[in-house]
Amino acid sequence: MNFYILTLFPQMIQSAMSHSIIGKAQSENKINIECINIRDFAGNKHKQVDDYPYGGGAGMVMQPQPIYDAYHSIVSKKISTPRVIYMSPQGKTFSQSIAKDLAKEENLIILCGHYEGIDQRVIDEIVTDEISIGDYILTGGELAAMVVIDAVSRLIPGVLGKVESFEEESFSNHLLEYPQYTRPPVFKDRKVPEVLLSGNHAKIEKWRREQSLLRTWLKRPDLLEKADLTPEDIKYINQLKMDNFR
Ligand code: SAM
Repeated sequence: MNFYILTLFPQMIQSAMSHSIIGKAQSENKINIECINIRDFAGNKHKQVDDYPYGGGAGMVMQPQPIYDAYHSIVSKKISTPRVIYMSPQGKTFSQSIAKDLAKEENLIILCGHYEGIDQRVIDEIVTDEISIGDYILTGGELAAMVVIDAVSRLIPGVLGKVESFEEESFSNHLLEYPQYTRPPVFKDRKVPEVLLSGNHAKIEKWRREQSLLRTWLKRPDLLEKADLTPEDIKYINQLKMDNFR
């Protein structure tokens, strides 16, 4: 999968994305992250890419032409009709299901704004999706783009070790994941739940499913409405309600 990032700060992305699983995925050519510096497409000797907003107001606005030219430099030689995502606080809130949807693409262009944002005309001209990472304002789209790249990349086959690594994860099936434990078996007088040491896989699976349901019911009951629940799951949740566990 190829990510093409249109940004004024390519080094921010290159340095942060060169570590850990995402760094390894790049060196193994499972994903490719290419940053295109919008400033390289400034049409003036001072390399200025922003200007005052028409109508007045605080801050500067990114001009449309350098962004369009940066975008065109990719589509003209590499890909025909890619999805172009503008990272924006006004976009659809990013989620695991959006990550899954984006992971089906072969190429993604991600546009990072800065300052007061981007001239609307280039957004209208090239952007297919607007994505927000939450209801707050960042100084630029780079951090948001990295959140999207990270979440999408780990869904690409081969990036994570095992398929199960993400199949059971929180949000994958609209349930939060069960608690995880590793060595030592006792830490500060807190024991690892007995069942996990039992070697009984059926019991472990049942315990994990119930913990997953319990956590979701306690922390994110809204998710349960979308979850694919078995009759046993429903029985278990009804029991939690009757016991007034919360
Ligand atoms: N004036 C804009 C507004 O009120 O909608 C905010 C501009 S913000 C300071 C600068 C850039 O940061 C935006 O163009 C966008 O690319 C990025 N950004 C800020 N908050 C974001 C968020 N929550 N999610 C995704 N991108 C964000």
